[in-house]
Amino acid sequence: MTLAAHYGQGKLGLSIELFPPKTKPGEQALMHHVEQLIQFRPDYITCTYGAGGSTRAKTLEIIAQVKRRFQLPVASHLTCVNASVDQLRDYLRESERQGIDYIVALRGDPPKDESEFKATPGGLQHANELVALIRAEFPQFGIAVAGYPETHQEAVSPESDLQHLKRKVETGADIVITQLFYDNRDFFRFRECVEEVGIGVPLVPGILPVTNLAQIQRITAMCGAQLPAEFVAALSKHDDPEYQFRVGVDFATRQVQDLISHDVPGIHFYVLNKSQATSEILTALNLDRQP
Ligand SMILES: Cc1cc2nc3c(=O)[nH]c(=O)nc-3n(C[C@H](O)[C@H](O)[C@H](O)COP(=O)(O)OP(=O)(O)OC[C@H]3O[C@@H](n4cnc5c(N)ncnc54)[C@H](O)[C@@H]3O)c2cc1C
Repeated sequence: MTLAAHYGQGKLGLSIELFPPKTKPGEQALMHHVEQLIQFRPDYITCTYGAGGSTRAKTLEIIAQVKRRFQLPVASHLTCVNASVDQLRDYLRESERQGIDYIVALRGDPPKDESEFKATPGGLQHANELVALIRAEFPQFGIAVAGYPETHQEAVSPESDLQHLKRKVETGADIVITQLFYDNRDFFRFRECVEEVGIGVPLVPGILPVTNLAQIQRITAMCGAQLPAEFVAALSKHDDPEYQFRVGVDFATRQVQDLISHDVPGIHFYVLNKSQATSEILTALNLDRQP
């Protein structure tokens, strides 16, 4: 099935994003969480590619394992960080060999100690070049690219960010998955601009259910997403994990309900390798996920 075919015709596409665990027990725990999430019939599962290309082998190992065990389409994320074009080709060839269906094609963030992204000698500078490489040499892969409702942190302007997104799509991306966001008005404004510049592929909101205030403050500080003040105030009322989990899940349930009522083509859940929050949200939404 093509990547774009998971969306549209009245069907809400559902995807789940994992990251490669660092330990064997972490891997076993992850497979248990994936098993819980499979009950909600996701269309496909993705696995991130660690900062600096640090998880290259692990990303493929995990996502290939998910495909073997659960028999559903999978996507590997891939970034241009610390990789020459030949190394990117090697990764794509190995992905092909492992039966990976889709690639989430990204530039990646600069390494921790560097303030700006510098292409590796013989490597690529922007995600659109990676999309071009995949389309030219590995046409069988579906391709997803990243979009930013609150504008990418390094973008010169929202307009230029949109033009770069348009280029990624014109080069061959099948869908856009967004960075996490907590104010749906940002997504709706972004969607209007995306439509205005003529980007016609599915624009899939990325949702990260908050389960812990300190953790989400670290994540949003890194990616530049805003946490609404009233949401932070609600989460801050009690420094109690159970309480923060409840507030976060209630918020995400309402956020996703609102997105669905505004006709989004699907939802991409950043589950952070845990199943409980997303399972509760999907149970509360009671989506009809029959094939
Ligand atoms: C759904 C999703 C999944 C992600 N998964 C991962 C992951 O697995 N691993 C990881 O390390 N990171 C991941 N990221 C983070 C991502 O790598 C960073 O946000 C990174 O800083 C930008 O990547 P990009 O693909 O959007 O880059 P690009 O599209 O290249 O954009 C980067 C910046 O350059 C500008 N730009 C783009 N193209 C051009 C051009 N041709 N000329 C000039 N300027 C240009 C853009 O406006 C933007 O400011 C993910 C993000 C999302 C939303």
